[in-house]
Amino acid sequence: MVLGNGIAGQTCAEDLRKADPDASIVIIAAERHPLYNRVALPRYLRGQVRREKVFMRTVEDYAKHNIEIHFETWATDVDLHDKVVLTNRGQEFKYDAILIATGGRPKPPPWPGSGDVSSCLGFQTLDDTDAIIEKADSVERVLVMGGSFIGYELAEGVSFRQKAKVTWIMRGPWFLRYVLDEEGGKLCHQLGEAQGVEFITSDEVQKFSRNNGRHVAETVNGHKVEFDLLTYGVGLDYYTEPVRKEVELRAP
Ligand SMILES: Cc1cc2nc3c(=O)[nH]c(=O)nc-3n(C[C@H](O)[C@H](O)[C@H](O)COP(=O)(O)OP(=O)(O)OC[C@H]3O[C@@H](n4cnc5c(N)ncnc54)[C@H](O)[C@@H]3O)c2cc1C
Repeated sequence: MVLGNGIAGQTCAEDLRKADPDASIVIIAAERHPLYNRVALPRYLRGQVRREKVFMRTVEDYAKHNIEIHFETWATDVDLHDKVVLTNRGQEFKYDAILIATGGRPKPPPWPGSGDVSSCLGFQTLDDTDAIIEKADSVERVLVMGGSFIGYELAEGVSFRQKAKVTWIMRGPWFLRYVLDEEGGKLCHQLGEAQGVEFITSDEVQKFSRNNGRHVAETVNGHKVEFDLLTYGVGLDYYTEPVRKEVELRAP
């Protein structure tokens, strides 16, 4: 039994099949797609890779390898003692061995009022990327928040499309401030500006409001940025829900 159809889950299932042609192998997959290359999503966002090239497997591949897969299905509980997995579709799967490879999801946007922003997208899945592309190509201004690797991919990806104007707000003086030194940070800043990205650094949004149908982000340092779409990258939360009861039981 494998939970999660990312690269870890898929590789495990396929390697098991190679090792044992007869074992029953079941994957529970929250997403609706066969395996795709998450690492290629930034190139797809930039328009450098066609959507079909992002996929690494077809639906038929699973049947070909005799791997049973349940798409759009969430494992909700794993009973490690009785070796049973429950899903949100009411299924119950018994297993002998299990791999939990459920990965993570973007941490929710932490800024006050971001829950009221109607177009607010993280960048983790193919569906996220499709939604960002659709929206970013049809609006005037996109706000990217977070000086993370994902923030960088978003700012670069959307500006590459040359449709919407991009403003990138980050808390640090440059992106990836704990990784890049000042010289590297300034170089990236210059390259971003040359591509039309507006940077607001060492600053943070303290309030969102609306003006003439547009969202407005107001920062601590007094900037006001109008935007139609907010995209962000502020880290990852792990999907641990299926085993939360087990963890609680074992807690001292
Ligand atoms: C935009 C982007 C760019 C990246 N670029 C790079 C890069 O250049 N280099 C690099 O090394 N890494 C990169 N990464 C990180 C890399 O993609 C991840 O490290 C990798 O995908 C992790 O694989 P995984 O199989 O462990 O988890 P995931 O790919 O997260 O897959 C886990 C799957 O499990 C599913 N799932 C979650 N909960 C459940 C549940 N309860 N039941 C069933 N299914 C569930 C999820 O929906 C997901 O489909 C990037 C990530 C992103 C988002």
